[in-house]
Amino acid sequence: MKTIKQKKVIALVAHDNRKKDMMEWVSYNWKELVFHNLICTGTTGKLIQETLSMKCHENELIPPEVIRLKSGPLGGDQQLGAYIAEEKVDMLIFFWDPMQPQPHDVDVKALLRISTLYNIPVATNRSTADFIISSKLFHEKYNPLIKDYSTYILRSVDM
Ligand code: PGA
Repeated sequence: MKTIKQKKVIALVAHDNRKKDMMEWVSYNWKELVFHNLICTGTTGKLIQETLSMKCHENELIPPEVIRLKSGPLGGDQQLGAYIAEEKVDMLIFFWDPMQPQPHDVDVKALLRISTLYNIPVATNRSTADFIISSKLFHEKYNPLIKDYSTYILRSVDM
């Protein structure tokens, strides 16, 4: 059974037109976020690192380590999907752009699919991100129920 611990692994991704929203959200919630492990696609991660370093610097704190994957269109979304499939990510804050097609639209769809499959909390807009981070459950351990796929795994396949 997977347990989401009190200290969480939070994935953060934002498309270019949503990066400003993401940085505002990170700036607003930095005091909470620095207590968790963060994993991001490349460019989002760079901006988050800069934002958190500045906040921590101002407050004489050591900034948290941010794991930076490849940039989304260069495979970062797929890398993140693999972490989720390995049950190494507890939640996803993914500000995707609803107004513009992306070169990696199929990867975006795959990331959302795998997050649903592994039943991790996902926010695709600021309101949902606000609800998640202010939830009582955010500050506790939590056991997400993951559907039992053993029947699927053991299915017979015609050869
Ligand atoms: P980026 O990727 O953080 O490298 O810009 C985000 C995405 O498009 O998935």
